[in-house]
Amino acid sequence: MQSGPKSREMFNRAKQSIPLGVNSNFRYWGDEYTLVVKKGVGGYLYDQDDKRYIDYRLGFGPVLLGHAHPAVQAKVQEAMQIGNAYAMTHPYEIEAAERIKELTGVDLVRFANSGTEATMHAIRMARAYTGREKVLKFEGCYHGFHDYTLWNCQPPYPGCGYRRNPVNVPHGSGIPKMLTELVISIPYNDEEILERKVREGWHDIACIIIEPLMGNMASTMPKPGYLEFVRKLCDQYDIILIMDEVKTGFRIAKGGAQEYFGVRGDLVTYAKSMANGYPLAAIAGPKKVMGEIGYQQIAHGGTYCANVVATAAAVATIDEIKKGAIDKAAAHGKKLAEGFKKVLQKHSLPAVVQGPDSMPGIVFTEKEAVNEFRDWAEGDHALYEEIITVMRGKGVMPDPDSREPFFTCSAHTDADAEITLQAFEEAVEEVMKKK
Ligand code: PMP
Repeated sequence: MQSGPKSREMFNRAKQSIPLGVNSNFRYWGDEYTLVVKKGVGGYLYDQDDKRYIDYRLGFGPVLLGHAHPAVQAKVQEAMQIGNAYAMTHPYEIEAAERIKELTGVDLVRFANSGTEATMHAIRMARAYTGREKVLKFEGCYHGFHDYTLWNCQPPYPGCGYRRNPVNVPHGSGIPKMLTELVISIPYNDEEILERKVREGWHDIACIIIEPLMGNMASTMPKPGYLEFVRKLCDQYDIILIMDEVKTGFRIAKGGAQEYFGVRGDLVTYAKSMANGYPLAAIAGPKKVMGEIGYQQIAHGGTYCANVVATAAAVATIDEIKKGAIDKAAAHGKKLAEGFKKVLQKHSLPAVVQGPDSMPGIVFTEKEAVNEFRDWAEGDHALYEEIITVMRGKGVMPDPDSREPFFTCSAHTDADAEITLQAFEEAVEEVMKKK
C-alpha cells in the first residue's frame, strides 16, 4: 500500500531536513511507502491521512500496553510537574529499580536511555570484571547501534563463510576494522561450535552476549537445553553471560526470558517494554557483578540516565504488568499464531510460525524449523514483505522487515485478531494468485 497524499507531502518535507526522512534506517520503507504518523491510541496507529492500522510494530516492541496508555500518561503527567533532569537521585528511579528487582529477581539495577547504551555498558562491565576483551555473539543477533556488536547481525548469505568459522561482516560502513579482532561470531543453537570456540579462546572471552530468543530474527527460539548449555560453559570458563532482554524483558513473562526459560544471566539488559515506549533502559544482575560498578572503577553514567519522566513511565508500566498486561498481550498473540498456521496450511504455503505468544514470527521456508540465521536467510523474505504490504493496505501493520515478529499489546482486542487474520488470509490469496 502506497502512502496517502498527506503522508507523502509530509514525508517529502521530512527528507529536506532528515536523511531519508527517518531517524532510524530501519524505518525507511521507500519514498512511496513510508508513512508519517498522526497519533497512536491503544492498539492502533493513525497516519496523516487518518487511515487506521492495527499496530503490530508497536515501536519495534516497547508499547506493551498500547499507545498513550491512560495509567502511564497520568503518571508521566504527574512526574512532569517536578522537572525532568536533576543529575541527582529521586524517588521515581528508586521505585522503578525496586519494581524491576521484584519482577526479575536481580539484585541491582543501573539505568540507561536505550538498549544500545545498556548493552554497551554491560560489555564494558564484563570486560572489567574478567580482564578479558573479546565478545562472543551469534549470527543474526542484534544488540544495538554501538560498534562492538554491529557484526554479523544480518550478514550477506551466502558470503559470511563456513558456518564452523563465520567471517565477521560489519553491519555497514564506518565500523572500525580493528574491532573485528574483538568479536567472535558463531551460529545460534549449535552447542558443538560454541563449545569449540570457547575451549579454544576462553582466556580472551569477556562475555557471551545473547538474545535469549532471537527477537531480531522472527523470534527464532533456542533449542531445549541450549541456554542451559551456554550458562554451563560460562560458569566453567568464568565468562560473563549477558542476556540481552531488550526485546524479551517485561514482554514474554513478568521476569522476562530468565523466568520463561529458567536460565539466568550474570548481566541482563532491559529497555523497550519496561517503560511502554518512553526511553529507559537498564543493566541489571546479581551483586557479584553489578556490585563492581561505581567508585570510579568502571565507567557508567549519562546526563539523562534515570530521568524523571522515563522512570515514572516505568513505574506505571510495571504496575500494569503486575496486574496481568503480559497475559492479555500473549492471549492475542496466541490467537494470531494459531490463525496464521491454519491459513498457511489451507493455502499449502510452507512456513514456520514460531516464538512466544506475545511476539510470534513467521518465516516462509520449506524447512521444518528455523534454528539460526542461516536457516532464516534461506527463507522467502520478498514474499513476506509482499504479504505484509498488502495487509497494511487493509489496515493491519506488522513490520515489513521479516526479521521483526508481530508484537502484541494488552489493548489489542478479539475483533482486532479477526480483522488481522482475515487480512492475512486475503493477502496470502492475493499474492499467491500473482505467482
Ligand atoms: N538489543 C536488542 C535485543 C534489541 O532488539 C535492540 C533494539 N531492537 C537493542 C538491543 C537496541 O535497543 P535500542 O534501539 O533501544 O538502542
